[in-house]
Amino acid sequence: MKFIDLTHPMRHGQLSFPGDPVLEIGVHATIEKQRCNVSRISMGSHQGTHLDAPFHFVPEGKRIEQMPLEWFYGPATLLRIPKQAGEDITRADLEPFEERLTPGARVIYETGWHRHYGQDDYFSDFPSMTPEAAAYLAGRRIRLLGMDTPTPSRAYYEVHHLLQQKPAEIVIVESLAHLDALPEHFLFIGFPLRFEGGDGSPIRAIAGID
Ligand SMILES: [Zn+2]
Repeated sequence: MKFIDLTHPMRHGQLSFPGDPVLEIGVHATIEKQRCNVSRISMGSHQGTHLDAPFHFVPEGKRIEQMPLEWFYGPATLLRIPKQAGEDITRADLEPFEERLTPGARVIYETGWHRHYGQDDYFSDFPSMTPEAAAYLAGRRIRLLGMDTPTPSRAYYEVHHLLQQKPAEIVIVESLAHLDALPEHFLFIGFPLRFEGGDGSPIRAIAGID
């Protein structure tokens, strides 16, 4: 199996979601002084390529360690939905893919916005899912929804609730990279770190292709 890395690099000082902590990676120990290299890392739980636990927006929602590991691994499908800055992703954009939006499906969509990662407009002008589109996906009972934008929608509160409140509890994977390299079907791998009580975690997102 060939692997494609769907993860953006993590670098000291890189742009974060507005209001979130800035990623800081510093030197704690060095081979010259302490005989080993150790870094000190400070960041928000939604840094870079990461996933959201339902607890991110839903008070009684699952936290990371309460989410079954099976949710983070398995067959996935890519939807190509090319969008320009600021455009909406609508229910009409999703309906042509309806036969792939089946219960338990892992669905990742590419708008092309991954090419803006690291640019000033990445966190502000991303293509944004309408609440109607989110309600449609929740009704299809998919398991995981991944995207190349930093969040599914500028309607942050409403769309996170639609996707992650019970019974939907859809895993949301944000800021994916290199989606243009993917075929229609692949294996998705993206496990979070086991932050107890966590609302989200960076992941190493990988696609496996036969
Ligand atoms: Zn997030």
